Amino acid sequence: MAAQETVDNKYVYDFAEGNKELKDLLGGKGANLAEMTNLGLPVPPGFTITTEACKAYLATGAEPEGLAEQIATHLAALEQEMGRRLGDPDDPLLVSVRSGAKFSMPGMMETVLNVGLNDRSVVGLSAQAGGNDRFAWDSYRRLIQMFGKTVCEVPGEEFEHALDEAKRAKGTQNDLDLDADDLRGLVDAYKNIFAKHTGREFPQEPREQLDLAIRAVFESWNAERAVLYRRQERIPADLGTAVNVVTMVFGNLGADSGTGVAFTRDPGSGAQGIYGDYLANAQGEDVVAGIRNTVPLQELERLDKKSYDELLDFMARLEEHYKDLCDIEFTIERGKLWMLQTRVGKRTAAAAFVIAGQLVDEGLIDLDEALHRVNGAQLAQLMFPRFRLDHEFEPVARGIGASPGAASGKVVFTSARAVELAAEGEAVILVRRETNPDDLNGMIAAQGILTSRGGKTSHAAVVARGMGKTCVSGADEIDVNVPAKRFTVAGHTVTEGDVVSIDGTTGKVYLGEVPVMPSEVVQYFEGSLDPEHIDNALVRAVHRIMTHADGKRRLAVRTNADTGADAARARRFGAEGIGLCRTEHMFLGDRRELVEKLILARTDDDRDAALAALLPLQRADFEEIFREMDGLPVTVRLIDPPLHEFLPPLEQLAVNVAVAQERGEDVAKEEALLAAVRRMHEENPMLGLRGVRLGLVIPGLFAMQVRAIAEAAVTVTRAGAVARPEIMVPLVGAVQELETVRAEAEKIIAEVVGDSGVEVLIGTMIEVPRAALTAGQIAEAAQFFSFGTNDLTQMAWGFSRDDVEGAFFWRYLELGIFGISPFESIDRDGVGRLVRIAAQEGRAARPELKLGVCGEHGGDPDSVHFFHEVGLDYVSCSPFRVPVARLEAGRAAVETDGSDSR
Ligand code: ADP
Ligand code: MG
Ligand code: MG
Repeated sequence: MAAQETVDNKYVYDFAEGNKELKDLLGGKGANLAEMTNLGLPVPPGFTITTEACKAYLATGAEPEGLAEQIATHLAALEQEMGRRLGDPDDPLLVSVRSGAKFSMPGMMETVLNVGLNDRSVVGLSAQAGGNDRFAWDSYRRLIQMFGKTVCEVPGEEFEHALDEAKRAKGTQNDLDLDADDLRGLVDAYKNIFAKHTGREFPQEPREQLDLAIRAVFESWNAERAVLYRRQERIPADLGTAVNVVTMVFGNLGADSGTGVAFTRDPGSGAQGIYGDYLANAQGEDVVAGIRNTVPLQELERLDKKSYDELLDFMARLEEHYKDLCDIEFTIERGKLWMLQTRVGKRTAAAAFVIAGQLVDEGLIDLDEALHRVNGAQLAQLMFPRFRLDHEFEPVARGIGASPGAASGKVVFTSARAVELAAEGEAVILVRRETNPDDLNGMIAAQGILTSRGGKTSHAAVVARGMGKTCVSGADEIDVNVPAKRFTVAGHTVTEGDVVSIDGTTGKVYLGEVPVMPSEVVQYFEGSLDPEHIDNALVRAVHRIMTHADGKRRLAVRTNADTGADAARARRFGAEGIGLCRTEHMFLGDRRELVEKLILARTDDDRDAALAALLPLQRADFEEIFREMDGLPVTVRLIDPPLHEFLPPLEQLAVNVAVAQERGEDVAKEEALLAAVRRMHEENPMLGLRGVRLGLVIPGLFAMQVRAIAEAAVTVTRAGAVARPEIMVPLVGAVQELETVRAEAEKIIAEVVGDSGVEVLIGTMIEVPRAALTAGQIAEAAQFFSFGTNDLTQMAWGFSRDDVEGAFFWRYLELGIFGISPFESIDRDGVGRLVRIAAQEGRAARPELKLGVCGEHGGDPDSVHFFHEVGLDYVSCSPFRVPVARLEAGRAAVETDGSDSR
């Protein structure tokens, strides 16, 4: 039969011809059916039509040339093997026609069972089953139902109604009470429904049924729900599905038959043992449909010991063979066990770690493989606290799950109140319409943040995610009244001090306290759970795999931290330095007044006085951070945002001035501020007077910061710790900018440092495309580069993050212009290319140049792999992402560098 098939146009594979590596071609289901067949497990014989055939069909709207003949050849061989012909009136062969793509898409595509039944073969089937008319007619009505629904788009409810009607007429609720006559009547009813909706009779010709079913499976690849599912799961749209044609076996032949699903380990917790459901006297789709109640798989031992023992044996063999958790579909036909599907099973994040650890213990895989089998997204999930929702709690509102986790606490409406109550040991939830940079301290102090406006990329959402803090944003049923210190929702009024609970995963908001469980994994990272001495499989597995990742990775992992507390936490999480310490928060709060003085200064003396007052405050901030990071490098970024961000908003000032004038008060200061705000207004602040430009325009500003850094380093070092400051100049686009700043900084550093032994590096961010393109020149003046990939992305694409994510990204995602926001995961082709160029040319000019990245990409799994490939020295990310980056850096190392042991 293989004679006319050449490699190019072979569209059909017998199960005996395939294996589990051929998922691209045969889909997951087909590849694994072949694998089980070749392992000698009892799989009903059949064949697989390739994804190539599907793709060809979808491209042209017609079956590719040769497919029909190849199906005929394989069908003939199958008939020969089974000693029956498809749809034979006396002794019919029946088949199922099953979809199966490379990646499992549960329930998204179609399957038709019992293909080959018609008005005549239904009689033959009954005879085959020893005169079991009921079974035969039940199988036939199932065919018409499934075929009608999936192949001919007959509305499924119509069949359901007819079935309900038959049961009502019989006075029962149970399918099993319908006898052969009832089912024969139901078949007539189904045929009428079919004819009414399709304008034709139900096809009696078996091969026509088969061909139409195959075509329907091909087409189900593009069904709306499948398209949506793929988009959500990031499964490529062009893979196509394979089609499996499988000899039918029957679980609906009586009490000695049945069907079930099984897992070789608990996919929820990873615990060892047998998990599954069994349903006697049923066909497979009944289990999934939940029509009748299944029993736990263990019951099968009582019902059919022989099949049960055999199943356990097969499951053990499959695990041994796949070296992983397998899930299985099986059917028992009159005491004979058949395997209908297996695959490496989906599992929760916790189970992924636990199972990987167990498999290492069992000697089935090594640690490199264990590392490969878990990922940063799973680890991140395990780091969030969860609600214990064992009681029913009704949410009062639902917003966007902006930053996962679960938090309960007293409602507060201002940052200051959050800080106050937190200092008294209270858990608080900060509730705002939306947050702004001034709320930062309150956000840090709060357990969670709830806003009534803004989406996944609002300030609240982005900052909360960075801090690993629970956040629900855009809960627009909530009406927030900050001055009155209350919000209303669904007829309730919640005032300051009332307790609410928010779930940052689901976006649900509850009144009152829902009990929360802390994350054991975080407790472990923080050092309060000792993995060697507790009986916690998850923590032990995480510990083991993280230790291995740390041993393998080439990338160092630093953190973005602006305060001593953040730095300390990140250090416990394994941070090996600070890659980005922003200095702008040091200009907020009660220091605003000094900043206003600085901005409003009319004379050099006024300005110098303001700077002199800021100096000791900054110095104290740096001292705290250097002490916490004793021995580790700390990259401090000189002030970056435009100065008007530190002034009150224009409208607010204008109103204040007007009101004060009305009252005849002295408004000289407000007027000056207002004038300054007007003067400093920018059309595109992102591209305006900020970063290094400020340092070049405002005399003494950078100098003050450099002095504060150097003095703090000297103080800390004299006290016995090791401070390793790295001064980073933001927004440089030309080497001359950096040279100017550097010349001034070096003078100050030399003067301050003296013989203290402190060494201060000076480097720059690479975040303006021009800097990336002239990196060779810039490296002459820089001891390190840190890629600021947020700004680099904005400037490379020419769109501002704050403005665009909500405005049109949905459309770009829909059109496939990008598969994921370039702010979430680095755009390898464009922004990534700039990174590559800068890394290469920078290193060429200065081989010892240190290269790192700061910005949200530093904690994104895919991006970490990219930075590993480019050969950066470190990534820097928010404290909470540090373990994720460590894990992914380890995975990148074992995956791209390879390993002998795998
Ligand atoms: P899904 O991918 O949605 O699970 P399947 O192709 O696995 O769809 O089939 C749906 C149900 O029909 C499953 O329970 C399966 O075990 C059962 N089934 C499929 N083929 C056969 C067959 N040849 N004999 C008996 N049951 C089958
Ligand atoms: Mg299945
Ligand atoms: Mg920047």
